[in-house]
Amino acid sequence: MAKLKSKNNHTSFFENVLNFFDTAAKHTKHPEGLLEQIKYCNSVYRMTFPVRVGTDNYKVIEAYRVEHSHHKSPVKGGIRYSVSVNQDEVMALAALMTFKCAVVDVPFGGAKGGIKIDPKEFTLPQLERITRRYTAELIKKNFIGPQIDVPAPDYGTSAREMAWIADTYSQIKYDAVDPAGCVTGKPISQGGIRGRKEATGKGVFYATREAVSVEEDMKKLGLSTGIEGKKIIIQGVGNVGYYAAKFLEEAGAVIVGIAEYEGGIYNKNGLKLDEVVKHRKSTGSILGFKNAADFKNTIKTLEQSCDILIPAALENQITKDNAPRIKAKLITEGANGPITPAGEKILLEKGVIIVPDLYANAGGVTVSYFEWLKNLSHVRFGRMGKRFDEAAFKNIVETMEQLTGKTINSARRNLLIHGADEIDLVNSGLEDTMCSAYHEIREIKMRNKKIKDLRTAGYVDAIDKVADSYLALGIFP
Ligand code: GLU
Repeated sequence: MAKLKSKNNHTSFFENVLNFFDTAAKHTKHPEGLLEQIKYCNSVYRMTFPVRVGTDNYKVIEAYRVEHSHHKSPVKGGIRYSVSVNQDEVMALAALMTFKCAVVDVPFGGAKGGIKIDPKEFTLPQLERITRRYTAELIKKNFIGPQIDVPAPDYGTSAREMAWIADTYSQIKYDAVDPAGCVTGKPISQGGIRGRKEATGKGVFYATREAVSVEEDMKKLGLSTGIEGKKIIIQGVGNVGYYAAKFLEEAGAVIVGIAEYEGGIYNKNGLKLDEVVKHRKSTGSILGFKNAADFKNTIKTLEQSCDILIPAALENQITKDNAPRIKAKLITEGANGPITPAGEKILLEKGVIIVPDLYANAGGVTVSYFEWLKNLSHVRFGRMGKRFDEAAFKNIVETMEQLTGKTINSARRNLLIHGADEIDLVNSGLEDTMCSAYHEIREIKMRNKKIKDLRTAGYVDAIDKVADSYLALGIFP
């Protein structure tokens, strides 16, 4: 396979992912050909289509869908709307999806889509037309379907776009049995699942909580265990960053810095997340928040003093240029690819623990998997068993009361007899997935002394799982 060319001495996002892959592949025993099959993207679909803007003008839209690995079906990954979308970026993100799904045992291959637009430059009807046309293009080339390729929200998209995609798919594939399963992250009324919106941020919270729960690792960083009192800087208060910060704040962490694209703010005594969001909404900027220092150069915010840094915006934010000035002791990657390999090298030399993207932000696709299962089974989780469980729990409580002659107070009683709703089951599945996966990759690192960081351990985990799957499929007899 020909080497990708780097521009201006900077490696591209996809090259960065390949670089991380190669570092990890050295710790596996798979043949080179199999590693190549796992590494590169299987299918790249680049399209252009026109959209009407105004009454008699048109704009040509550039868009992509990349399917990275078909070792499992369907393939899965979000669709991003951003002016920075390009083939390299979508390929990198598709590859990350493969490794992400493998690390958290979500039985999908990886994919990603992107439309090169600034959504703010289009009206709502125009955005709907672009989304529907993009979906129709995917259908024409068999790049979407519950059993083929299942998109989801990403940067610049939300449940709204997913509803348009599902509706377009159902209109064209009018005889499909499970049309809602063609896309996840939908509104609840369209077959979405409770807890999907906050899932990625909640997953970032669990990832951070697990990392700081290990005494041995925290000792090395000079930190105590637990989230309580940890000082946090967060980059990006979009869907991922906002919920990550919210759950961390609720668990007792102190949000000291918040960076957004227009600038950043810092207060060592803490910022109240919802007040900051309110301030930004009413003034149009995060800057100027009461009692906080302003950073017009937003990236400088990441260099301020804190225990934990959570980049939850875009790729290539921490590079060899600013890594030496990063003060955080632990970094959880809410975004995909926020740290370049050269930046990571510097951070690791300083002893920073990096909780890597392919694990840390996998909460979104985990709950997408639950949504897809719901769509295929055509029933809400908890619908069949909730009342049955509640009756059984009530029976146990009443038997205990009779046997002991004591009465359980009503708050405790309500807790004991509660049967699981959809949201309870989603949260339980998400928490269990994030906790087990953290310890799985940490174990890989601990077992092999040559593996020095969690990212390499995560990639080794993913490569082994994907390799196993390809070998069992029998395509390498
Ligand atoms: N876009 C999200 C990600 O990068 C979610 C993908 C999905 O749910 O399929 O992980």
